[in-house]
Amino acid sequence: MQEVKRVEIKATTQFKAVMAQHFLELDEAARTKNKKIAWCSSVGPAELALSLGFLVYYYENHAAILGTNRTAMDYIPIANAHGYSPDICSYLTSDIGAYLKGETPLTKAYGIEKIPRPDVLLYNTNQCRDVYDWVNFYAKEFKVPVVGINTPRTQRQVRDDVVQSVTIQLEEMVPRLEEIAGRSFDIDEFREVLATSRECSQLWEEVLGTAKAKPSTITFSDACIHMGPAVVMRGRKEANDYYRLLLAELKERVEQGIGAVEGERHRFYWEGMPIWGKLRMMSETFGRLKACVSASTYCSSWVFSGFDPKDPFQSMARAYCSIFIGQDDVGKEDYIAEKVEQFSIDGLIFHDAKTCPNNTNCRYGMADRLSERLSIPHLIINGDLNDLRCFSEEQTITSIEAFVEQIEES
Ligand code: SF4
Repeated sequence: MQEVKRVEIKATTQFKAVMAQHFLELDEAARTKNKKIAWCSSVGPAELALSLGFLVYYYENHAAILGTNRTAMDYIPIANAHGYSPDICSYLTSDIGAYLKGETPLTKAYGIEKIPRPDVLLYNTNQCRDVYDWVNFYAKEFKVPVVGINTPRTQRQVRDDVVQSVTIQLEEMVPRLEEIAGRSFDIDEFREVLATSRECSQLWEEVLGTAKAKPSTITFSDACIHMGPAVVMRGRKEANDYYRLLLAELKERVEQGIGAVEGERHRFYWEGMPIWGKLRMMSETFGRLKACVSASTYCSSWVFSGFDPKDPFQSMARAYCSIFIGQDDVGKEDYIAEKVEQFSIDGLIFHDAKTCPNNTNCRYGMADRLSERLSIPHLIINGDLNDLRCFSEEQTITSIEAFVEQIEES
């Protein structure tokens, strides 16, 4: 098989340092109790917790690491044996399975013995109900409170009454978090965290935007890795410093005409969850076919440009209600259509993730509708975010090869 040349991202060293800092700080806090720890869903109210001095640990991020290093498969059956169906979110089942087995990939990566014990568990149902069930498992295990936001989904437009309800829920979290944090809430600190988080979003959006260049500066697989700080360190200056560095490097690529895929001929859009354990294999497959996955819904999900420090509660409520996953198909299709134009996309790839219906958008006709509307073909890949039993490597490679052939012949 032809070898695929990759242009390494130089900022990776700094990326690793930022991620290590995140986990090592959490570990130190868990061991020394020098700071309180909040666990939070990935698009949950992290900024509020940060402003009250909590360190924030993201349980989905931990699950994604289990997917990336392919240990998820060892743990999912353990959760299944505890009554969690193999059909529900494999982030949840792999994470709970790993906990029940008393293991974490953080040990190998950072020498951390166990996941940091929470003082409080936070969630927002803006993405799915699974995060609620997930934290309630840990609430029983650690005997700590659950504090969260219930946000409706499948919205055509984000209604003012919904934003109002979420704003109230956010405000009501404050006294409970103050009690757990053992300190008072300071609105100015909250404004500052929100401003830092918004800047992180803007920088991350700019990073992704460099892939509009021809050839694209980064692939979906690169972006899935380098989005780490936008997920786990948003609201912290270290994330922003990192993205400034990465952005400078990618702008240089644009100036010099350096693409992530050598000899790029096709540009695809990835809709749905990554297949964490197959990121490299997918990247190599696309690379071999001179195709770059230049844009995705998933990696843009951590862009919260609506945060406004002047109106922190309401703007945060609106931003977290407006995320892609919470919209109806009309809003989602408009969003994808815009990205297709911006990134000069010539094919759509939909990932039908077996255990995440929430982030799978090809089950109600969207792929056909978009192909017709945009006059570009689509491919549906069956797989899963963490459960590789739902994924066939050979079948997927054959489908991608046939898809590229179809585009080249058209
Ligand atoms: S959105 Fe999907 S992958 Fe994420 S926690 Fe919910 S069910 Fe799991």
